[in-house]
Amino acid sequence: MPTAERIDGKAKAAEIAESIRKDVAVLKNERGITPGLAVVIVGHDPASQVYVRNKKRTAESCGFHSVLHELDADTRQDEVLDLIAELNNDPAVHGILVQLPLPKHLDEQLVTQSIVPHKDVDGFHFENIGRLTAGDIDNAFVPCTPAGCMLMIEDQLGRDLSGLNAVIVGRSNIVGKPMAALLLAANATVTICHSRTKELPQVARHADILVAAVGRPEMIRGDWVKPGAVVIDVGINRIEVVTDGEKRHRLTGDVAYEEAANVAAAITPVPGGVGPMTIAMLMANTLKSASS
Ligand code: NDP
Repeated sequence: MPTAERIDGKAKAAEIAESIRKDVAVLKNERGITPGLAVVIVGHDPASQVYVRNKKRTAESCGFHSVLHELDADTRQDEVLDLIAELNNDPAVHGILVQLPLPKHLDEQLVTQSIVPHKDVDGFHFENIGRLTAGDIDNAFVPCTPAGCMLMIEDQLGRDLSGLNAVIVGRSNIVGKPMAALLLAANATVTICHSRTKELPQVARHADILVAAVGRPEMIRGDWVKPGAVVIDVGINRIEVVTDGEKRHRLTGDVAYEEAANVAAAITPVPGGVGPMTIAMLMANTLKSASS
């Protein structure tokens, strides 16, 4: 039997959504403002379509005005930029999210940087990245996945992580780097690892907080985990399994859950850990934008 606490991201995300619903009701009554979230998807990637539908459904359940723009895969860059300009100027829209990845002919950086910083609820605009990195977190939109991870870490260990070692495996702009900025701001001693890191298992074993954001199924084994660590598994990997001769797909994280759960103090499952928290943080950022 695994000994670690299973961190229930789904339950925590539901609590956050409930609290957002109440705040939205107050915002509507007192100031006549309904938070608006616009989601833009280009192309027909099935995983992205599932993500945007979940985001739209959650936005509606929180009482938001929610619009979904589904553009064809061959939409030209100027057409995407025109739509974003329109949403930037739409007073009913407080948050704009462009689902990534974009088709190859579109410049992802140009598109994400064209969203005005005060509607950039994904936190990818350089102004928001700069604020986060400079420690001006209250005035930044923090990327949703690391923001959700941080809430789960705080639940386990409190807001001040002084004296604790945090190791992040993965250095992407959307997960690894902002995660490092948040942990640093909470006084953790932070190490960021990536594909060129040597002796990765040894480095990971020093972590009181281990965040895996690699995109490689079950790469992080139980013997990489320090006894008593808090393990946050960001990875979402679709793997093929054969049961009774039948091929199926199942989602798995970057951490070998069963092994790690025998060593860690607490661990997030996949699915049901970081994923739902990411959507909850998107709602929180949109409410923050509408309220300010
Ligand atoms: P990226 O592909 O952008 O980054 C992966 C990182 O992992 C890179 O820094 C890469 O190093 C590093 N890496 C790859 N292979 C190794 C290795 N063998 N050893 C050490 N480091 C390695 O991925 P993302 O950050 O966008 O996403 C990571 C995972 O998280 C994916 O599974 C993704 O699906 C999931 N995800 C989940 C979300 C959620 O809501 N739960 C949201 C966002 C992502 P290098 O830089 O050197 O190439």
